[in-house]
Amino acid sequence: MTHPFLDLAPLSAEHFASVEDRVARLLGTSHSVVIMQGEALLPLEGAIRGTAGPGTTALNIVTGPYGQTFGDWLRDCGATVHDLSVPFHTAATAEQVRRALAEHPETDFVSLVHAEAATGNTNPVAEIGAVVREHGALLYLDAVASVGAEPVLVDEWGVDLCVIGAQKALGGPAGVSAVSVSERAWARMAANPGAPRRSYLSLLDWKERWTDAGRRVLPHAPAQLEMLALEACVERVESDGLAAVTARHAAAAAATRAGVLALGGGLEPYVHDAREAAPVATTVRTPAGVDASALVAAALAVDPSVPLAAGGGALAKEMVRVNHYGPRATPETVRASLEALGAALTAAGAAGPVDVPGAVAAAAAAWA
Ligand SMILES: *Cc1c(COP(=O)(O)O)cnc(C)c1O
Repeated sequence: MTHPFLDLAPLSAEHFASVEDRVARLLGTSHSVVIMQGEALLPLEGAIRGTAGPGTTALNIVTGPYGQTFGDWLRDCGATVHDLSVPFHTAATAEQVRRALAEHPETDFVSLVHAEAATGNTNPVAEIGAVVREHGALLYLDAVASVGAEPVLVDEWGVDLCVIGAQKALGGPAGVSAVSVSERAWARMAANPGAPRRSYLSLLDWKERWTDAGRRVLPHAPAQLEMLALEACVERVESDGLAAVTARHAAAAAATRAGVLALGGGLEPYVHDAREAAPVATTVRTPAGVDASALVAAALAVDPSVPLAAGGGALAKEMVRVNHYGPRATPETVRASLEALGAALTAAGAAGPVDVPGAVAAAAAAWA
């Protein structure tokens, strides 16, 4: 019996390499791209452990929960870490980064998350990248949530290590990810005695056994399904056009924000400044006395198809996430999300009137 997922022909080294090249084009980079056969945390951790050691001084920019994790890994590697933390309802600015680098001139590594799906903000990487480059530090970027939702321009922005995953705006599976590595970053890893070797976390192993060896023989059995899915993700973006795909995400964010503002009932966009709101997902603050998890449960009872989730950890009480990414970056999804939220808010006894038709109209106007 044949099955679409089973008994696949082996994926050739040539095919694997062609997917790497396609990802490189998506990221606008001439750096080597290493595809990693695991969830994005694999290259995120591998890139930090490969690069950082006791001699490293890192500026870790914390704009959400992933930044906290990166700081933990950096400290675990023995690096001296200075955290630049900003409130989760804002983005970091290039000026803040400039001041932090002036305060800690020995900084040689900067870690940054591009868009935070968990908090709904997005950071100005072009501007921050210019400051980091001027200082001479390596720039490490988590673009897992931004890739496919907004431009990610690795070479133009001077990103040395850029990690992506397929599972957010690309609409793919979580089991495959990639990292682009600049020559400077490879040199830093080669000189790092603590960089993982003969390890699943090792980027240097891939460089030695795959990239530098001419990409002719794969060091491990390739994850065929995930590789085919990643290829299909990039192909879909190419055929729709990256500009059209990112415009669709920007419109979804603008429409959701406008809809929430018009909905009333005490809901507010979580990220104060619209320019700092991520195209990948819109976060919403619930009014005092309305538990976000309960509100999401009630909204999903009204319409189980809407991409609503409560915030993680301590944010579960006060934050609703509208995950309008990938195939859900559509006017229909935004409209349905606002309707479900409005119904749940009314049922919860909202403070103040809830205007669902007004929200739907505002969202439609903002989309256009
Ligand atoms: C989703 C995401 C990841 C991947 O981690 P998961 O825990 O699997 O969701 C990494 N970084 C960012 C910024 C993300 O949004």
